Amino acid sequence: MTAIIENVRERVGASAGTLKNFIGGKWVDAHATETLPVFNPATEDVLAHVPLSGPEDVADAVRAARAAFTDWSEVPVPERVRYLYDLRSALLDDREQLIRQVATENGKIYSDAAGEYRRGVEVVEFAIGMPTLMAGYNVETVSRGIDTMMERYPLGVTAAITPFNFPFMVPLWTLPIAIAAGNSYILKPSERTPLTAQKIMEICKQVGIPDGVVNLVHGASDAVTSICEDRDVDAVSFVGSARVARIVYELCGRNGKRVQALGGAKNHIIVMPDAVVEPSVANLSESAFGNAGQRCLAGSVMTVVGEAKDKVLPRVVERAEEIKLGFGLDEGTDMGPVIRPDARERIHKYVEQGLDEGAHMLRDGRAKVPEKGFFVGPTVIEIEPESVLAREELFGPVLSVLHADDIDEAIRYLNETNEYGNASSIFTSSGRAAREFRRRTPAGMIGINVGVAAPVAFFPFSGHRNSFFGDLHVTGRDGVEFFTRKKTTTTRWF
Ligand code: NAD
Repeated sequence: MTAIIENVRERVGASAGTLKNFIGGKWVDAHATETLPVFNPATEDVLAHVPLSGPEDVADAVRAARAAFTDWSEVPVPERVRYLYDLRSALLDDREQLIRQVATENGKIYSDAAGEYRRGVEVVEFAIGMPTLMAGYNVETVSRGIDTMMERYPLGVTAAITPFNFPFMVPLWTLPIAIAAGNSYILKPSERTPLTAQKIMEICKQVGIPDGVVNLVHGASDAVTSICEDRDVDAVSFVGSARVARIVYELCGRNGKRVQALGGAKNHIIVMPDAVVEPSVANLSESAFGNAGQRCLAGSVMTVVGEAKDKVLPRVVERAEEIKLGFGLDEGTDMGPVIRPDARERIHKYVEQGLDEGAHMLRDGRAKVPEKGFFVGPTVIEIEPESVLAREELFGPVLSVLHADDIDEAIRYLNETNEYGNASSIFTSSGRAAREFRRRTPAGMIGINVGVAAPVAFFPFSGHRNSFFGDLHVTGRDGVEFFTRKKTTTTRWF
């Protein structure tokens, strides 16, 4: 632990412990003077302080990104992706450090951080295909002597605003695709997990990505507003809560920017009576309690259909009892803390409200947690469909349980209890039930006997309803479309 803190201090400057922005290839102090502490949420140690950058800092970054854009967009695309080969190699070299950094500032356990790391690197690998991915198409002789072709061009200055729960993977959902397509890029990471972003920028510099092509501005809402209002930012990719996603989407719309805004989630899992018990229980438990429930793909409501109640539910509760809480880098830890005390309080508040409404506690995670750290234990609670626990995103290790007589009733709950549509899963041995579920679920990411249905990098990561505002999703072909603009040329030679 001490080594990690020392390491961070060394990088941010021992005296101040305040992080710097990375603009135009240089580490610079933010103009803003206000800072927030960055914690290890498992130990409450302060790792660094993050500056709350404002309009001046964002303007500096946009200027640097605009200045870099012209030359960068002229670099041939096969040459641009050579930087990504080097980026991938450097990320592999620093694998251990990156995983430990994620676990330390986010609180997730080593294996979860390793999974996140792998998913982030996969996007770099995907973007290495950019010479093919951004190819256009043409039709000759669309009219007599006339040919038409479509080409994709970079947009210009692009920005990404990211959440705390995947400090490595979510920035990498966009950075490699944006720059391989010829854009310059500004990252505004979560103020609660900014240290991994520092490391990503260091690696970009180390592999020689030209100055100003990637930039980092720390901060919170002021920095975000400045990015969304800056006339010289062409596109904004946002990932975070539904409330802020809507704000960013509307603000970018008013300012004429291309935007994709991924929001929160309230994911349902249906367990059919014919589910294969043991692997399903392991998957359900991982979905609800992995990353302390702080995944946008976390299973939050489990509807047990018919006799699945007796077969599966007691096993899920037993497993919840077995989960060992602690610092994610300590041997034997199964689950880390939530990110901050206010997250813990929000979760407790909703659980209490659910109990007041008549919910029935099966496993109470509020008790028996380590004294230090922002812990909430795995919680399993039986609810009615009208409960606040079926409606609101808790973003913590709470699995609310509904009972249904058949798949129709379970799908109705999934459609009607809340307004999100990120992910949903079914556990069953019946192809017919799975098909029915796939067609009728309102979610964008669907799991069939998969509790965390995270698409790999060459597919779109796609929510619906209040989980997504925009048209083009992140990663896959959508990611390439998002970071390029199309031109169609119609040609005639006399
Ligand atoms: P958040 O919305 O609080 O913060 C996300 C980003 O927005 C941060 O960079 C933050 O600095 C900025 N921000 C916060 N408040 C703002 C405001 N008022 N105005 C402008 N900017 C503001 O989200 P979080 O707590 O960091 O992350 C957790 C949330 O993200 C959950 O709701 C989770 O479901 C969601 N999430 C969604 C996906 C997805 O793919 N749909 C992926 C990961 C996380």
